[in-house]
Amino acid sequence: MVEPINIIWLEGQGCTGCTISLTNSSMPALADVLTGVIDAVSNINLVFHPAVMTPWGEKAVEVLKDAEKGKYDPFVLVLEGAIPDEESAGEGFWCMVGEENGEIYTLNHWIDSLSEKCAVAVAVGACATYGGVPHGKPNPTGAHGLLEHLGKDWKSSLGLPVVCIPGCPPAGDWMTQSLGALVLAVRGLASIPELDEHNRPKFLFGRLAHDNCPRAGYYSEGHFAETFGEEHCVVGLGCKGLISYCPAPGGGWINRVGGCPTFGAPCLGCTEPEFPDEPFSPFLKPPEGVVMTKTIIKRIIGGIYQAYSLQKGGER
Ligand code: SF4
Ligand code: SF4
Repeated sequence: MVEPINIIWLEGQGCTGCTISLTNSSMPALADVLTGVIDAVSNINLVFHPAVMTPWGEKAVEVLKDAEKGKYDPFVLVLEGAIPDEESAGEGFWCMVGEENGEIYTLNHWIDSLSEKCAVAVAVGACATYGGVPHGKPNPTGAHGLLEHLGKDWKSSLGLPVVCIPGCPPAGDWMTQSLGALVLAVRGLASIPELDEHNRPKFLFGRLAHDNCPRAGYYSEGHFAETFGEEHCVVGLGCKGLISYCPAPGGGWINRVGGCPTFGAPCLGCTEPEFPDEPFSPFLKPPEGVVMTKTIIKRIIGGIYQAYSLQKGGER
C-alpha cells in the first residue's frame, strides 16, 4: 500500500466548471483515482472540496485549520477560481471560504497559510492559473491567478513551482493526468513533469491547438468556413488555435471525443494567460494577420491548381 496523499481543493472566484469537468474525466477517471483502482495513484484522499465534501459549516473550517497544523501532510493544494485583491475590498471582502463564531475567513487567508505547507500547489482552470474571466478588463476585484499571487520564484515544501492547468474549463483528463503525474513525482515513482514558460505541463500544452487540429488540412489547402456548420477551417470565424497552446483538438474532451475546433467552434484561447482579453477577444474576430494569410494561402493554392490544370491540359 502506497503512502496516503491528501488533496485540499479550494475554490475562489470561479463557476465550479472545473470541478464539473473533473467529474467527466475518463483517462483516468476521477472515480478510479479516488477508489484506488490504479495502484500507483491510489490512497489519495480528497479531504477538502467545497462542492463535494460531506462536512459543512464550522466542521469544514476545522479541516482547513487542521491542515494548517500539519494533520494532512503531505497534501496537494489545488485552487479553482481566481484570487481577489482583498485590500481593495474596503470594509467588506470579495471572497470568503468559511466562517467561525462570526469570524470571516477569506480565500486569501487560506491560500497564504496553506501554501507555506503544501507539497505541491496546483492551479486548475483559466481563473486560478492566470486570473481568467474575473481578471478580464476592467477587473473590478483585482482578480489574479495563483502564479501571480505566489510569484514565479515561489517553491512548495518539495521545491516545486506552481503548476498551472489552464482552460475554461480544462478537460477532466488534463487535471487527473497532471495531478496523477504529480502524485507519482511526490512518491518518487516518476520525474517531475516539465513545465513551459507559463508553468503548464509540456506533455499537455507543448503544441499549438492548430498543430493537432483535424481541420489543419483545410487550413493548409485554403478551405475556410464562411459560416458556422461548414466543415472547413474556422479561422475566419475567429479561431485562435494558431496562437493557443492546447491539446483539446487532438486529444478530445471526454473519452477522446470533442475539442472546440474539431467540431467547428472557434478556439477562444482559454489556455493562454491573456484570456479573455486581447489578442483573444473579440472572440469571433480572426487573429491579427489571418485575413492576409488566408488571401496569400488562397493565391498560392490557386496558383498551384492553375499550374497543375494547365499541365494536365497540355498532356491531353
Ligand atoms: S480551425 Fe483553428 S485550429 Fe483548426 S486548422 Fe483552423 S485555425 Fe487551426
Ligand atoms: S481549443 Fe482553444 S478554446 Fe478550446 S480548450 Fe483549447 S484553448 Fe480553450
